[in-house]
Amino acid sequence: LSDRLGGVFDRLTRQGALTEDDVTAAMREVRQALLDADVSLPVVRSFVRAVTAKATGAAVTKSISPGQQVVKIVHDELIAMLRGEDAPETLRIDTPPAPILMVGLQGSGKTTTTAKLARRLKERDRKRVLLASLDTNRPAAMEQLAILGRQIGVDTLPIVPGENALAIARRAKQQASLGGYDVYMLDTAGRLHIDQALMDEVQQVRDVANPRETLLVVDGLTGQDAVNVATEFDAKVGVTGVVLTRMDGDGRGGAALSMRAVTGKPIRFVGLGEKMDALETFDAERIAGRILGMGDIVALVEKAQATLEIEQAERMMKRFAKGLFNMNDLRGQLEQMQKMGGMQSIMGMMPGMGKMAKQAEAAGIDDRMIRRQIALINSMTKKERANPDLLQASRKRRIAAGAGMDVAELNKLLKMQKQMADTMKKVSKMGKGAMLKQAMR
Ligand code: GDP
Ligand code: MG
Repeated sequence: LSDRLGGVFDRLTRQGALTEDDVTAAMREVRQALLDADVSLPVVRSFVRAVTAKATGAAVTKSISPGQQVVKIVHDELIAMLRGEDAPETLRIDTPPAPILMVGLQGSGKTTTTAKLARRLKERDRKRVLLASLDTNRPAAMEQLAILGRQIGVDTLPIVPGENALAIARRAKQQASLGGYDVYMLDTAGRLHIDQALMDEVQQVRDVANPRETLLVVDGLTGQDAVNVATEFDAKVGVTGVVLTRMDGDGRGGAALSMRAVTGKPIRFVGLGEKMDALETFDAERIAGRILGMGDIVALVEKAQATLEIEQAERMMKRFAKGLFNMNDLRGQLEQMQKMGGMQSIMGMMPGMGKMAKQAEAAGIDDRMIRRQIALINSMTKKERANPDLLQASRKRRIAAGAGMDVAELNKLLKMQKQMADTMKKVSKMGKGAMLKQAMR
């Protein structure tokens, strides 16, 4: 993807503004990337439509680097879509004992996730958790949860042979109350496919437990199937959140986007392996990166930014090499500093400026000060900016008043500009070789 996008975006960076055709071309690549990542077609379509609208509109207002802008819009939109607006930060486990119902197909990672989550609640949230397996079809599955429970130091409901799922749920509820547990988790039986018997059972269990959270566990590698499963489960039992497992695998995480877009359910956690600590809170940015192969795109954005800065720096260097440094140059510098959030970075890049950057920092030049200095420069006429030597007392008073400051502050600014101009002149006399040497220091 990065190569293809690279081509499109390289072209975009060279143009002044984004045309609809450019956006369309870029979107073709984005669309393919999403499909490759297993995002379902309707979701891809609506996503591309949304981004196209935003990108075309935005480019008109800001045309500094259109390619960069498209990348950012795609990235941001993906994150916004993955994150959703209503996604709660934490699980609702306020009133003890809070029931959590775990549902999903067989083999999706339900039992493993139940144990992982229990461990997390215990270690991070200091909750007392009781686990119960309702998988009566497979005695081994009940034993599996008991083993995991011992491993993580979390209690499991004793297994009573012959008991059905509903009875186990009732017993878990009772035991959780009597035993003073904060949370009890019900690990339901799965099936290979969704069928009526499974849904009936899960519904009955739900009615007994009245869960605060119903977490659907789905295999993140199954793509479109996962979305269908989620839709079904949500319709039948009401899902409050999704856990995507096997996100440590090769899949690119497209299921996450489809899942969020189609079901509207928040993705709460991702499973990243078989071990008990391999569970993480869902991180929209990380998944967005994965879907778009974003490591590459981020690099592209950085490259675009760097190119822009180099071009500006080169333009400035040419002036400086001639020993020129007026108020326009100073304003340019100040604006750069503002953008980059630091004196050192930009001044350090220029000959003779490293020392001055340190002085400026020592003098307490900060963001607020930079803003005031820029306001002063803006208050000058074009002529004055190009030739600060024109500034006599009356002009100074006018400029300072225009910026709402006093003349003393303007004098400081003038002194700064003068120092820089002097440095430029000295440096330019040293010639190019010396200048480079100075820059390397
Ligand atoms: P259940 O039938 O839904 O209860 O599924 P299990 O919890 O028994 O998990 C089935 C298999 O998937 C087991 O071998 C787990 O170790 C494995 N598994 C579960 N979650 C993950 C995960 O996030 N990553 C990986 N790689 N394997 C997982
Ligand atoms: Mg299981």
